[in-house]
Order: sequence, then C-alpha cells, then structure tokens
Amino acid sequence: MQAQVTRWLKDGKIDIFIGYKNFDGHIIPHCFTSDKLDEIKDLQSGQEHYALEKVATKIAAGYPDLTIGLLLARKCNQQALNVLYVWNQLDPERIEILDDSNNTTESDAKVEELPFKEEKGLSKTLLPADLEEHSQAELFPRWMYEFSKCIKCYGCRNICPVCFCKECSLEHKELIGPGMLPPEVPIFHLVRATHMAGRCIDCGLCEEACPADIPLRLLYRKVGEIVSDLFAYETGDSLEQSPFSVLGDKVVLEPKPINE
Ligand code: SF4
Ligand code: SF4
Repeated sequence: MQAQVTRWLKDGKIDIFIGYKNFDGHIIPHCFTSDKLDEIKDLQSGQEHYALEKVATKIAAGYPDLTIGLLLARKCNQQALNVLYVWNQLDPERIEILDDSNNTTESDAKVEELPFKEEKGLSKTLLPADLEEHSQAELFPRWMYEFSKCIKCYGCRNICPVCFCKECSLEHKELIGPGMLPPEVPIFHLVRATHMAGRCIDCGLCEEACPADIPLRLLYRKVGEIVSDLFAYETGDSLEQSPFSVLGDKVVLEPKPINE
C-alpha cells in the first residue's frame, strides 16, 4: 500500500492521497502529498470510522482539478462514493481508489446505551423489522423521547459522508426555529431523515457521533427501507440516478404502487 501510494504520487497519477496516519498512537485521517513523501511510512490501513469521502468532497469543491487518491477500507466507503458520484459531488474521473477492504474486518462500533432505554426509548440494536411488532401509538412517544434528548450539536450532519448541501435546511430559521433546545421535536429529525432518503448508506457514523444516544441509524434505515420498497432503489449500490434527483436531473425511476 505504501509503495503504491508513493508510486502514484511520484508518477503524478494522483495529486494527494487521503488515508490514515498514526499520530502519536492515534489513527487519524491524513492527506499525503508528493512534497512530503517521507510521511508515507506512517500511512495506515484499517477500518477506522472516519468519513474519508467527506474530506475528498471538501477538497474537490475547493480544488476541482486535483486527482484524489482515496483509501477504501470499508464497504460503505464505496457506497458513499457512489452516492457522491450520483449527486455530482465528486467526479469519478478524478478519484483513484486504493481498495484495502479485503484486508480489514468489517465491524460496527460497540453499542453502548444509557439505562432506562427499554422503558422509554428505542434501543440502537433494533432493526426496522423489529418496529413492525409494535403499534404506532406505542412507538410515537418513544421516538419523541429519543428526539427530545437532542442537543442540536449537528454532529450527525457534520460527520455524514453524504451530507453535502451548501445551505442546510437544519439551519434554516423558518424551518427549524433557532435558540431552542431540544430543537423542535420532531421537525429537526424528520427534516434530516427526509433529506437522507436516497442518500443514506447506513455507515453508522452519525449514530456513533451522537452524544445523546439517539438511535439515528434505526431512523435512517427505516427511511432507506421505504425508498427501497417504493422505488426499488438501493442507495449506494450503483450509479443509477436517485429517485429524488429532481433538480436539473432527469428522474428515471418510477415509484412502484404502494400496495404491490
Ligand atoms: S448512517 Fe448516518 S452518517 Fe452514515 S450515511 Fe446514513 S445518515 Fe449519513
Ligand atoms: S448528533 Fe445527536 S444530539 Fe447532535 S444534532 Fe444530531 S441527533 Fe442531535
């Protein structure tokens, strides 16, 4: 891996490489460049839970002519890239993947939960199918309880590899009133959930980042399930146009009848 990145940088195949570096015992994202080739000895693999694609998107927005090398350590890295290609946030011609996913073991972060979840809230270990066993009347107050813990830190949005809008609805004061904690329940969370339709690739980073222990992955998985059922669209699995690309792009998917 280190030899390949060195070769790519020396040959000019890429301008920068985004991977991981061991910094004082901590694995952190790092941009490797040809003017500091000696740093490549610190390049690490591993499936650290950072959104390297988000770093690539930010760099590409500022420097669209750069060709970016990117470490692919988890399956969801490729899915995030596919979403970013579909939404024209990255140019596949300007991305060079170093696929190291075969050498890493996919594992989710350990689920740690506060007590009293069972009584009032929703466990992060639940799957959408588990919700089917409960009535809406039972689930609604549980979701409201979870949302009411939000401290509006924007961590879920900021870490998300497929959150890329320049103007974020979550900061639109006519949609989400400013100066309130928790942010208006459930509007804040439903706005974000709606925007994740056709974009969320279930990487789990938002839930890991959330300091309020809210089962965000469950919420977005449910949204993804609805998108899959309605449009037969599996987010991130292909470069097929999203059914929600209505601004400037031709919509190519037709919704299936709901009762089918
Ligand atoms: S799981 Fe969370 S962070 Fe990952 S793509 Fe979905 S919304 Fe974004
Ligand atoms: S990370 Fe959690 S607490 Fe912070 S805004 Fe998102 S849901 Fe709210």
